[in-house]
Amino acid sequence: MGGFTLFTILQVNSKHNRIAIKANPEIKKWEKDDQFWRDKLTTSQYAILRNGATEPRYSSKYTKFYENGTYSCQGCDLELFTGDMKYDSNTGWPSFSDHIHGHLETYTDLKGIWPKTGYRCGQCGGHHGHLIMDGPQPTGQRWCNNGQVLKFKPA
Ligand SMILES: [Zn+2]
Repeated sequence: MGGFTLFTILQVNSKHNRIAIKANPEIKKWEKDDQFWRDKLTTSQYAILRNGATEPRYSSKYTKFYENGTYSCQGCDLELFTGDMKYDSNTGWPSFSDHIHGHLETYTDLKGIWPKTGYRCGQCGGHHGHLIMDGPQPTGQRWCNNGQVLKFKPA
């Protein structure tokens, strides 16, 4: 029983192996004060981008949405994903098997029971979601993103 529990935890934990992905250093980082974000964002967007909150499952219009186009950051408009990276993970959040390289950076999120790989926008620093290694090949990545902080532009 104890062994089984430990095994289960290790299995789940292995999907959260920390991966260090850095943003392109040529992207100029925004430095805005708290009031700027409170004026610009809705309450739920602020909670996600600035405080690392997670939207409820299936609450985003982008969860089951597969149009051709580009997804950018609600905070600063930097493009983060393209429609061909999107897949159905059945988790209740928009999921992508890759990202636009250089536009996101990972960090260690210590809010949960064990550390997770969170990721932020490379320009405004807003938290977008978590990177979990149970995605489709060839990347094996699931960029599990809060849909409320994405802005879709059709191709
Ligand atoms: Zn941003």
